[in-house]
Amino acid sequence: MNTRPSVKFFAVIGNPVEHSRSPAIHTQFGLETGIPLDYQKIACQPEAFTSTVEAFFSDGGSGLNVTVPFKEDAWQMAHAHLSPRARVAGAVNTLWMQEGQLHGCNTDGEGLLLDLRRLGHDPEDKNILLVGAGGAAKGVVFPLLEAGCRLLHIVNRTPEKAHQLADHARQHLPQAAQRLDSGSLDGAAGQWDIVINATSSSLQQSAPSLPGVAYAANALAYDMVYAATPTPFLQQAKASGAAHCADGLGMLVAQAAASFAIWNSISPSIEPVLKLIREQLHQS
Ligand code: NAP
Repeated sequence: MNTRPSVKFFAVIGNPVEHSRSPAIHTQFGLETGIPLDYQKIACQPEAFTSTVEAFFSDGGSGLNVTVPFKEDAWQMAHAHLSPRARVAGAVNTLWMQEGQLHGCNTDGEGLLLDLRRLGHDPEDKNILLVGAGGAAKGVVFPLLEAGCRLLHIVNRTPEKAHQLADHARQHLPQAAQRLDSGSLDGAAGQWDIVINATSSSLQQSAPSLPGVAYAANALAYDMVYAATPTPFLQQAKASGAAHCADGLGMLVAQAAASFAIWNSISPSIEPVLKLIREQLHQS
């Protein structure tokens, strides 16, 4: 009798998706937890997103990660069965089937929290500046507020988007309204315990202009973008006195670990995979 567990099929769907490190991360999680898995990349045209997701699950797929530009489409597809965080984030990065129904979650926020805590910077009681109001920022506002930060100030190059995000958060989490503020990049002046760059500026080799931003003692500067060398934002933060700097590779691995836990009911260790992926990043 064959008692070996059968291989489970996973994938990340996006466009572009070639750069994705998710297959390498999940393959390592599978080896660590003893779950045999095959994790592929699916490059998809916008008009084919829904049919591709349906075909993946009807062919026996166990779970899909969703990346740019499909997180909102995935949210629409799974709207009947969303986790609370996905519902308020308006975006889904993790899909799975349960009792014949498509379910969706957003693990970006959990990934950020896990990484901040791993780095020794629990958001509780901290004054946090969140720079950016795009999809990544939307996914982390609620987890940061729920984690008990003292103040969350959202600033964005287009300030209206920061105000909209703050208003949205106030509607869904009215008890946190007093701890939430929003504005333009020019209005970010102050002393912060944690500054999170949730913009894509570092991909353009630039840092957001943040006049008057100062770092409290022992403060952390965190860039969601990751790279083999310090990003422009992290270089700027160091020059401005940030005691600690970290890029988003830990968040990437941690959000993947949260997806893996949803799909397989087991939480893999983050550190060994993070070390491996960091080495691969330096080699590439
Ligand atoms: P997005 O929805 O396209 O939003 C981009 C954000 O960046 C907007 O707030 C935009 O401001 C701002 N921005 C772009 N260029 C800028 C510049 N030169 N100066 C100032 N602000 C600028 O993208 P996203 O999905 O939020 O992703 C943002 C970044 O986070 C991406 O680089 C992504 O790779 C990264 N990310 C990392 C992880 C991880 O696990 N490490 C997870 C999610 C996302 P406007 O509104 O004014 O255009």
